Amino acid sequence: MLLLSGPNIAGNEWKYVKDCLDTGWVSSVGAYVEQFEKLTAEFTGAKYAVATSSGTTALHICLLLNGIGTGDYVIAPNMTFIASINSIKYTGADPILIDVDPETWQMDLDLLEEFLQQECDITKAGCLFKKNGRRIKAIMPVHVLGNMCNMDRLLALAQKYQLTVLEDSTEALGSSYKGKHAGTFGLMGTFSYNGNKIITTGGGGMIVTDNEELAKHAKHLTTQAKSDPFEYVHDEIGYNYRLVNTAAAMGVGQMELLPGFLKRKQGIVAFYKSALEGVGDIQFQKIDKEVSPNWWLPTIMTIKQKNVLKILNDHKMQSRPFWVPMNQLRMFAQNVYYTKNDRSDYVYRKCLSIPCSTNITDDQLLAVSEKIKEVF
Ligand SMILES: *Cc1c(COP(=O)(O)O)cnc(C)c1O
Repeated sequence: MLLLSGPNIAGNEWKYVKDCLDTGWVSSVGAYVEQFEKLTAEFTGAKYAVATSSGTTALHICLLLNGIGTGDYVIAPNMTFIASINSIKYTGADPILIDVDPETWQMDLDLLEEFLQQECDITKAGCLFKKNGRRIKAIMPVHVLGNMCNMDRLLALAQKYQLTVLEDSTEALGSSYKGKHAGTFGLMGTFSYNGNKIITTGGGGMIVTDNEELAKHAKHLTTQAKSDPFEYVHDEIGYNYRLVNTAAAMGVGQMELLPGFLKRKQGIVAFYKSALEGVGDIQFQKIDKEVSPNWWLPTIMTIKQKNVLKILNDHKMQSRPFWVPMNQLRMFAQNVYYTKNDRSDYVYRKCLSIPCSTNITDDQLLAVSEKIKEVF
């Protein structure tokens, strides 16, 4: 089976993990955790990085640290992986789902602005949803597939409406907007090291921020909020959301490979574009010129989505449809979904992601491209 986006363990991962096993530093304390955090801060340009057990737990902590809880709203795009919206629900808050742009597949900023203008009031208590007077506290942009929206405009809207920006940049390690790294625009950003992400630790995550106090508090909350180095004194409800040293060791090895992975992803997309652009109605994700994406998961759009999915998967070339839009899931059907003509559904019905592991060969890329062409 040719995996959609599988791990590529090609550097010092073995050596570093072996070091953990040999020395017994396999658990929640160890030098690799700090090293992984340091490498991530350096790479992204963030001042602080705090490792977590997953991208989902990283998001949960960011929301908690900003006082988001029962009765609050958080704005998020309607097309995302479910973990973004679940993390909001964990806190007791509800999402306000904004429809996406049909070409970039990111949150549609025209719709966002319209929603804020027409449906919200700015008051001394912050931004309120007119319909029920509930507070909208934050906005969670998701850099879908490593692409990014116009961040200048998003930040300006967030400032005008007093919304804290917490980035779900879990898919965008290595992406940037006007040269600034994804995850460093908001008060806090997040990364994921799940097995299908651009680098992996098996499972894991990271919070990045320039705010020292928030970084310290994030470390505290993710490590059971223990406030005394010796005695078991805890000063708030904490979480066991830390990343273990063996996973961090793998992460350090993967960070060393990341620049090469980013190059390869570009090469993969360039290959697919030259092979598939102009074939039938196939279109690739639109990237604005200020954005330098990490091309995490090359994805094409076609009315023959179902046929392409079938032929590829029948030939053991793993390919996947896009996420079911959040408003179509049972748990979120009652939440606010702001849209004009349900672009999410349109995008969902036409998009599919095609094999793009960083260790895929050009021969395999050619074979996938030829199979796709057979459909048209
Ligand atoms: C992968 C992902 C997450 C969650 O990351 P995990 O490490 O799997 O918990 C959150 N949001 C988006 C958009 C993702 O793609």
